[in-house]
Order: sequence, then C-alpha cells, then structure tokens
Amino acid sequence: MVRVVRRNMDIETKLPQALIEERAKLSAVGHEVWVKARKENDFKAFEPILAQTVDISQRIAEYLGYEDHPYDAVTDQFEQGASRKFWDGMFDSIRQPLTDLVAEIKASPNQPDDAFLTGNWDEGAQRAFSMKLLDGIGFRLDRGRLDTAPHPFCTNFAIGDVRLTTRFLDYLPSAVFGSLHEAGHGMYEQGSPDEWDRTPLAGGVSLGWHESQSRTWENIVGRSKAFWRHFYGDLQAAFPALASVDLDTFYRAVNRSQPTLIRVEADEVTYNLHIMVRYELEKGMLDGSIKVSEVPDAWNARYEEYLGITPPNDANGCLQDVHWSGGLLGYFPTYSMGNILSYQLWELLEADLGDTEALMEAGNFAPILEWLQVKVYRQGSKYPPQELLQRVCGGGLDAEPYLRRIRAKYSEIYELG
Ligand code: ZN
Repeated sequence: MVRVVRRNMDIETKLPQALIEERAKLSAVGHEVWVKARKENDFKAFEPILAQTVDISQRIAEYLGYEDHPYDAVTDQFEQGASRKFWDGMFDSIRQPLTDLVAEIKASPNQPDDAFLTGNWDEGAQRAFSMKLLDGIGFRLDRGRLDTAPHPFCTNFAIGDVRLTTRFLDYLPSAVFGSLHEAGHGMYEQGSPDEWDRTPLAGGVSLGWHESQSRTWENIVGRSKAFWRHFYGDLQAAFPALASVDLDTFYRAVNRSQPTLIRVEADEVTYNLHIMVRYELEKGMLDGSIKVSEVPDAWNARYEEYLGITPPNDANGCLQDVHWSGGLLGYFPTYSMGNILSYQLWELLEADLGDTEALMEAGNFAPILEWLQVKVYRQGSKYPPQELLQRVCGGGLDAEPYLRRIRAKYSEIYELG
C-alpha cells in the first residue's frame, strides 16, 4: 500500500501546481474547441490546442524524468513500467502480420453479410437480454448495476458497488458487446479481496490490464461460436426477427472485419492498427520529428499504408478522438496491450482448464471467471503491472498468441487460403 501511494504521490508532487492548472484549463477549453473543429472539419482551429497538449506533455515529461524518450514519462502515468521501447516492441511485432491479415480479409470473396443486425430492436428486450448475459457470465448484479449512457463505461465506488452502462441502438451488437465489454471491466473491479475495499490496492492495476479483461469477455468469450451455441436460442426468442437467421450466419456477422475510418467502431483485427497510427504520431510529436501542422497528412498516409483507406476529411481522420483535446498523450497504446494480453492470458487459461468451448457451450462460465479471479482479479494492485505479467505469464508481453489465434479464427470465417 505504501508503494502504491508513494508512486501516486511522486507523480503528483513532481508536477508544479501552475502546470497542473494549465493542463486543467487546456482540457476545459480544448474540449470545446475540439467539438467545434470536428463538427466543422477544421483542423486549423484545433491545431493550437494540439500544440499546447504536446507542449504541456513535453514539460510533464521533463518534470517526471525519463532516461530514453519523453514518451516513457508520459505513458508511465497510464501504464506503469511501459516506455517507448516497450510499445515499439509491441507494435513492431504486430505491424506486418496484421497489415497482411487485413489485406487478405479485404480481398476475400466470402464477406459476411451483417445487414440483418440493424433494425428496430425493442429497447426493453435489449435491456433484458443484456442483463441475462451479465448474470450468465458471473457479473454480480447484487453488487452492481447496468444503466444506459451515450458512451458505455464502467465506474465503481467500492468493490460492492460497480456500475456499468451500455446503449441501445439500431445496431443490435452495440448493446450486447458493449455490455459484455463493460462487464469485463466490472468483474475485474468486483474481484478484488473485500479486505482491500477503499484502499489503493483495490481494483485493476493498470489501463492495459483492465482492457485485457474487457476484451476477454467481449471478444474471446462473447464473439466465440461456443458462447452463441449457448445463448443464441435466447437471443432469437428475445428478437423474433432473428428466427430465420442461423447460428453460423449470426456468428460470421458479429465477427465481420473491415478497414473503417473510425477507431471506436473497429473490430478486433483492425483495432490495433488504428492505435498504432496514433502511437506513432504521439511519439513523433513529442520528440519533434512530426510537426503538429503535419498531423493530418501523417495520419492519412498511415491509414493508407496500414488499413488501405484514406480519410476523406479530418473530421473522420485525425480529429475523431477526444484524447488529444484534453492533454492526454501516452494513453492510446494501452488499448492494444489489452487486446494482446487478453489472448496471452486465454492461452494459459485454456492450458489449465482444457476444453473452454465445451464450458461456454454449456453456459458454465464459473471456471473461467474463477481462473481469472485467482490469477488476476484478486491480485488487485498488489504487484506493479509489469511484475504481474511476469508472475502470471512467466515472461513479458507476447503478441504471438493473439496473432496466431485471430489468424485461425478469421481464416475460418473468411475462408482464407
Ligand atoms: Zn474498455
């Protein structure tokens, strides 16, 4: 506990009050400017805010200190122990295999049709089905809630008070997978030992670890065929329009992968490429190798290179995310770490539990949750994130399980050669 508090105090006390005030003001003003700039597709209006975000981040890096690159200091605030070197290693290992896989998927003649997922879905039925899923996988509804919000999130006030939100849209998977994603965050929070409640040891240890759990339940569990062998009958009963859609068609539709312009709508294959673009730009802006004025061109060139698409405008390009308007630099790569770590953990889980597909098909999620609880959730913030990696995985972050498993999964869905 002393170690965790000392780290937080160190970060807080190394930064002068005036700088914190400046960042808070930028965040307030920057958000308004960003909303307008995105709406009017006006990067020039946003440019001074982004320049200030970079300037403040550079000064934060100097105050916090770093050995190698200013990115080390700013990203350590969100993912303790991560650094430019750590993220470079992660992205170097996925850049080519993912770019290749995306191109193969795009070229496949066997594209799933997901038009039937959009419709006039009853809100009450969406809510009831989401609750059924949460209950089924083991989210404790006596120690948490599910409500609605424009953007899904998870927040908690204690281990026994964990609140999730989801949203009910015309696109049915939005509520289903949004609920599963947030429940993953929520079960991680609910899993801390009760005796640590309201101490710095309670709760997820870092953003990357947190995202590994939301992604596990959303993608590895929730987008598996075994999961839907168990739940699809219930889904069809709740939404009679799906009665004529068979399980295979549904499974392929909810796993549709295609390069799109918008990160928050990206699938599990393309998502990390969206993040890589942002990471490379952040790194370049921080060390001065990319000028803020060059961001739109640098962004578009990378979307073309990695995803094979070029944003038609900055609103759907470099202006799409809220993060840079509020001084947040160094945060994005934790999303990719979560995607990669989720598969690394799953491989270990499967080695211990055996046939996870049989468990999921039978609706028996308890052994899966129990494994994650023992290995991850009950550890709370007891070990720093990099040490937890060593303890649970016996080594550092490894993208190999992620790459191998998504290639196998999408080769089957898209009938790749
Ligand atoms: Zn999340």
